[in-house]
Parts: sequence; structure tokens; C-alpha cells
Amino acid sequence: MDYCPAEHRYDTMKYNRTGRSGLKLPAISLGLWQNFGGKDVFENDRLMARRAFDLGITHFDLANNYGPPYGSAEETFGRLLTKDLRPFRDELVISSKAGYDMWPGPYGDRGSRKYLVASLDQSLKRMGLDYVDIFYHHRPDPETPLEETMGALDFIVRSGRALYVGLSNYKPEETRKAAAILRSLGTPCLIHQPSYSLFNRWIEDGLLDTLDAEGIGCIVFSPLFQGLLTDRYLDGIPENSRAGRNHGGTLTGKISDDKIERARRLNLVAQERGQKLSQMALAWVLRRATVTSAVIGASRVSQIEDAVGALDSPAFTPEQLAAIEAILAS
Ligand code: NDP
Repeated sequence: MDYCPAEHRYDTMKYNRTGRSGLKLPAISLGLWQNFGGKDVFENDRLMARRAFDLGITHFDLANNYGPPYGSAEETFGRLLTKDLRPFRDELVISSKAGYDMWPGPYGDRGSRKYLVASLDQSLKRMGLDYVDIFYHHRPDPETPLEETMGALDFIVRSGRALYVGLSNYKPEETRKAAAILRSLGTPCLIHQPSYSLFNRWIEDGLLDTLDAEGIGCIVFSPLFQGLLTDRYLDGIPENSRAGRNHGGTLTGKISDDKIERARRLNLVAQERGQKLSQMALAWVLRRATVTSAVIGASRVSQIEDAVGALDSPAFTPEQLAAIEAILAS
């Protein structure tokens, strides 16, 4: 069936300016790190992508190694474009990244020009795209001169492979240095992608101030702490949850009785506010003016609907913020 997107898809989503650039991003973006790989059910992915776009989610976030297997999320996204979304390419902001291990040998990892350019060429092929809107260096690489990595990002824009560039997982000082090099090359850093959630607040310790000062946008990943800041784990680990499915995955070591107890208490604050814990967690990260967007993951359509519902959240009262701080500090 041909896809006909919702006519009113732009009516309710909030679009925020990315730093001091001209590009606006939806307050909620969809990431394809998990659930869009080669082993996942394509028809479910298709339903999620369609629903996201219908709700005004114009930004889809990928990376070379999303899957598993590596590369398969980009292949899935290529199929989603072919089946449904390609007629709307100019309404989409598509990002990819390189910086983690992708292929064997010395040229498939980290931050060399050799790796970044080759990796993006592979990503474009997998997605069937001429260019991505945003290309990120996925993590800092202490072994490669920053000038080389930033020079590669500048080249990637000048060669037409990306419209904008971003940094991910860079600390404040690394960000300042990288941003200065990019500015001097004439390719300003558009955006930074750090982790941020009620359970992971490192960016409050300098990075947010740096991004403000540099005029760089901020899209925060894992705002639900991979699902722990939802009602998913309040009564144990369901088999069909990320933690239940991926034993030994990146979430496994992060689940503790202490975190679940805090999530239960945070859930009570959310209930008082008349919303789900996941929605409060998203409202909490988005309350900061520096945060342009929260990039969520989803395994089903209803989770995307929940996330967009968070945009109707009431403002936090000082009492609610204090209650949250007390729970996090206890
Ligand atoms: P989240 O913290 O949003 O976790 C998403 C998971 O939480 C879902 O897959 C789902 O898990 C669960 N969930 C979501 N909504 C609900 C809900 N309403 N009720 C119950 N459970 C819910 O983000 P991710 O960790 O998935 O990361 C999001 C994106 O961030 C990635 O796709 C990627 O684009 C980006 N990212 C970037 C990184 C980087 O280094 N730059 C690193 C990691 C992520 P379940 O399967 O259990 O249903």
C-alpha cells in the first residue's frame, strides 16, 4: 500500500532551532540503534517509521554500526525510504556517524580521514542516499590529531556527502577545541550528541555551558536510560524488553535494585503530574533550553506515541523538581 503521510503532521510537534544554526529539529527524534537491525521485524519497523513521520518526527538518527549486524539499521532505513519515505526526502533530517569499530583492520575504527570518508560512503550506499543531513564523529579518538578528524568532517561537507557535521561523546574541553578547528575551516559544528537522562547527568557539569557558549545544538541520547526510566522494569524484567532480550547487552550491567527503586519513586511523581514515567523523563531533559531534541529508541508504535505525548507535559513545579532531586540524591 502506498504511504500517504498524515496531512496534519506538522501541527503538534515542536521544532527547536539547533544552536545558532538555521536548522530546526523536532523535540523528539527517532534513533535506529536498536530494533531496526537485520534480525528485527521489518513490518514493525515500517509501522514505527510511518507513525513517527505522521507525528512530525522529521529526524531519524543512525550510525554505521547500528544493527546488529553492523550496517543493517542503515540497510533497513534504505528500505523504509524506498517503500515509504523517499518522496519526502526534503522533509527529513537523516544523520549517520562513524567512530566506533566497523570493519576489521586499522581503517575501520576511530577518527582518521581514511576511516570517516570511507565509512560515510558505505553508509550512503546502504541507505541509498546522495547525502546525509548530519554526519557525526561518534566518539573522540585520542590517537588521531583533532585537526585530521575535523578536516575530514569539513571535507565531507565540501564534497557534498553531508550538509552539517556534529560531535558525539566529546567532553567539554574536546568540544571547545574541535569547534574552534571546525569554525576556522568554515564548517561550524552544528550539534553535539551526548547521553543525558535523570540517571545520567554528566552534561550538566560543563558540557551544556560549553554548547551554549559555542552556539552548538544538543540532541541527547538514551533519555529513557534505555528503558529504565519507563514503566518497563518496575515489576521485574519482561522477556520482550531490551534487557530481557539482550542478556549481556549494554543495559544489563546498568540495571540494579537501587535504580529500579528510584524509578518506582520517580513514577509516583510522574503519576502526580498525570503522566507516564517515560513522559516525565523526556519532559525533564527537554526543559533545558540548550537541549534541542531528545533522540529516543522504540520497539513498538505505542512508545513513539508516548514520547510525542510528553510534549504536552505540564511545566515542573519547584516542588516536583525538588522531589526529583531528593529521589536522585537518596
Ligand atoms: P531510550 O533511552 O529512549 O531507550 C529506548 C528503549 O526504551 C526502547 O527501545 C524501549 O525498550 C524502551 N521504551 C521506550 N519508550 C517506552 C515506553 N513509552 N514505555 C516502555 N518502554 C519504553 O534510547 P536508546 O538507548 O534506544 O537510544 C536512542 C537513540 O540514541 C539510539 O537509537 C541512537 O540513535 C542514539 N544513541 C547514540 C549513542 C551515541 O554514542 N551517540 C549511543 C546510544 C544511543 P524495549 O525494547 O524494552 O521496549
